Amino acid sequence: MIFLDAAATTPVRREVLDAMWPYLTGQFGNPSSHHTLGEAAATALADARRTVVAVLGCRAGEVIFTAGGTEADNLAVKGIALARQAANPQLNRVVISAVEHPAVEESARYLERFHGFAVDVVPVDGTGRVTPEAFRAALRPETAVASVMYANNEVGTVQPIAELAALARELGIPFHTDAVQAAGWHMLDTKALGVDAMSISGHKLGAPKGCGVLFVRGRTKLEPLIHGGGQERGRRSGTENVAGAVGLATALALAQSRQEDERRRVAALRDTFIHAVLTAVPGAVLTGHPVERLPSVASFCFPGTSGESVLLELERQGVICSSGSACAAGSDAPSPVLTALGIPAEVAQTAVRFSFDSAVTGADLAAAAAAVEAAVGRVRALGA
Ligand code: PLP
Repeated sequence: MIFLDAAATTPVRREVLDAMWPYLTGQFGNPSSHHTLGEAAATALADARRTVVAVLGCRAGEVIFTAGGTEADNLAVKGIALARQAANPQLNRVVISAVEHPAVEESARYLERFHGFAVDVVPVDGTGRVTPEAFRAALRPETAVASVMYANNEVGTVQPIAELAALARELGIPFHTDAVQAAGWHMLDTKALGVDAMSISGHKLGAPKGCGVLFVRGRTKLEPLIHGGGQERGRRSGTENVAGAVGLATALALAQSRQEDERRRVAALRDTFIHAVLTAVPGAVLTGHPVERLPSVASFCFPGTSGESVLLELERQGVICSSGSACAAGSDAPSPVLTALGIPAEVAQTAVRFSFDSAVTGADLAAAAAAVEAAVGRVRALGA
């Protein structure tokens, strides 16, 4: 089997499991307990936080451990908007891009439905990029928070985050970025990026599902969404997932330590694969930005097919990939991301995404390209 669906999830890395193991077994304490076991857990949590701090270039108090990327996005968008609205009721608009993950989009829609916010959606160009001009035009004095993802999960397009964050900062508007797909491939230094909040998820990086991080810059107001015992400085109550935090920190540090030449190697493999598919499959179209894209994502439309049929055919040939994002899989509606790129609905439903981690080889991708040629040919021949 060739697994080309790493943007959906990844297996837990051996080093990550080894780092977590003690906190799932002998050192199982609750970090809030005042005995040796509890203190050992609290120390492990503090160490994990320090590891995250080193990658994000921030302070320990700015890192909130969450139960995944979705929760981190919810906390950022709702938490910042609600806190700012409470301080100043005129702050009642939220800016998001047209290609956000549902975790951000639906958080903004919740604010619209229940808290009187208006949602301003910034369009993207045909490559999926938010232009600084379009972003600037959406920002208003009433904007409570702006959120633009670092890299898109369906087409891999990477946004000019530092430039967008600087525009928001000029107007004093907190800027959040969903870095769930970018983590491990792109720079995450929160000072250099100039972001006020940033979400990361463990399971895209070789840590388990259900652990994430939200960075929130010190001075940014944040209303908690989960109330209880006051853990994570009152911003995210609930007994901490110590092993999850340790796993996420270990995976994040391992992924971010990838050298530049490793990133270039994967990007070169991606480009060879893209070229092979575009050459072998008549009518195939690359979606997303040709250059400003994740090293790990190649996404196409194959007009005259259905993405789901190509996917099934590829699986029969041992290639596992996705027809768009895992979250949208199984839905008949065309992907809102592809639609936002201006791709017609009938073409959008022919989308297939290939995504990989740094273990991918040229041989894997050469075999996958041959399988794509055969699969698309067969689906077209059957008229499916
Ligand atoms: N944001 C993006 C861009 C994603 O790709 C995902 C996962 O698919 C999420 C957020 C949600 O993260 P999680 O699965 O950890 O809730």
